[in-house]
Amino acid sequence: MGGRVGQAECHKCYIKFPKNEMKKIEVKGSRSGSSMSANLTDLTKGLSGIRMNEGRQYYGQAWICKDCQGGGKGAAIGCAWFIFALFALLLFLDTGDTDTASTSTEATIRTPSSE
Ligand SMILES: [Zn+2]
Repeated sequence: MGGRVGQAECHKCYIKFPKNEMKKIEVKGSRSGSSMSANLTDLTKGLSGIRMNEGRQYYGQAWICKDCQGGGKGAAIGCAWFIFALFALLLFLDTGDTDTASTSTEATIRTPSSE
């Protein structure tokens, strides 16, 4: 029933894995960071060069292995969580430690205007 699972090359590490162990991702543009230099050389060649480069670029789906998933999307989510945790910690520290100080200063400032 299942048969053989096809293999696909990882978009990031270029190692082949079975597709059922990988994840499909959306890709846009060229493979590596060489697109910038390619564009620059095309600019010197003229507009036709840029057109050619765009035609060569591939849009669509690529496969990514589990390892690289951790360093890609997962890292972004992890980073977001880290920021969230840090923010929560800062808020907690702020309210826990300097709460009395900040409210007292606020009170002294607000007292004359409200009365
Ligand atoms: Zn990989």
